[in-house]
Amino acid sequence: MDCLFCKIIDGSIPARKLYEDDQVLAFHDIGPQAPVHFLVIPKRHIATLHELSEADRPLAGHILYTAQRLAAEQGCAEGFRVVMNCNDLGGQTVHHIHMHVLGQRQMNWPPG
Ligand code: 5GP
Ligand code: ZN
Repeated sequence: MDCLFCKIIDGSIPARKLYEDDQVLAFHDIGPQAPVHFLVIPKRHIATLHELSEADRPLAGHILYTAQRLAAEQGCAEGFRVVMNCNDLGGQTVHHIHMHVLGQRQMNWPPG
């Protein structure tokens, strides 16, 4: 399968890793949109949020919990933003689900 994030998981493409366990990997985004910008991804390939199944509910919670814990570690105690883009209209460019965590600047609304 030709998936960029699966290649980061298997080590064939390097990334600046923040955290890893048997289910998830977190690494810094290559094009940061804030002073803190990292991604949390499942190790199993799931293309978009549409492919998330009922059995994946614990995994989804684990991704969110990992995001929160790492945000605190990265100095985002005052606040941060999580974003998950779903499919082309949602702005998703890499089709392996990922949670963006952005912090250490003022976030605005509405998003672009
Ligand atoms: P999306 O637009 O799909 O929500 O987000 C994809 C994110 O992946 C973008 O923020 C982009 O900068 C990041 N990205 C794309 N290619 C690479 C890469 O090779 N390494 C890392 N670390 N991030 C990447
Ligand atoms: Zn993948």
